[in-house]
Amino acid sequence: MDHNDTFRELMNKLRAPFPKEVQQPRSDGHGTYIPIAYYLERLNEAAGQHWSHERVGEPVFYDQDRLVHTVVKVTILGRSHHGEGFSKYQVDTSGKMINRHYAIRSATKDAIRDALTFFGMKQDSLSTDKRKEVNPKITKVDPQLNSERTCIKCNKELSIEEIENLLNLQIKFDYCTEHLPKHLRKKK
Ligand SMILES: [Zn+2]
Repeated sequence: MDHNDTFRELMNKLRAPFPKEVQQPRSDGHGTYIPIAYYLERLNEAAGQHWSHERVGEPVFYDQDRLVHTVVKVTILGRSHHGEGFSKYQVDTSGKMINRHYAIRSATKDAIRDALTFFGMKQDSLSTDKRKEVNPKITKVDPQLNSERTCIKCNKELSIEEIENLLNLQIKFDYCTEHLPKHLRKKK
């Protein structure tokens, strides 16, 4: 098998539609999205050690919107694409940023996902038929910012397990395992 076949096979795995179970309702009430954690899981399954990413330049902070912006370069089997990512950060009562590190990480993951779309991996991957039904206007409503879920206490990005746990417990707010209030931990 030559290099191109390997690349094509890997891309086929990456581009396969996501199962329905991993789609989460968007916070704006319009449709669904796939949490970043699933993209990364898919990427690691399909590409293993054949992918890497590096951040390009320094993260840029937009104080007014409380956003951090990063650019990354993702390389899969020697081919690269750039992606841009955003993440909202939270501030404490004195206006100081909470968990800068996680905000940057979160934006970086968003940028990796953006780069993956240039490899042909779909945002909001529904099955191909379903996608055609989606109103094109909806996709303009900032899919990136809605598609990440971070702990409301520490800003850490939630893992797949943590998102699933919140779903199981029917908890409306996003908490990481560490900050999940004790009284909410048991299913009612
Ligand atoms: Zn937390």
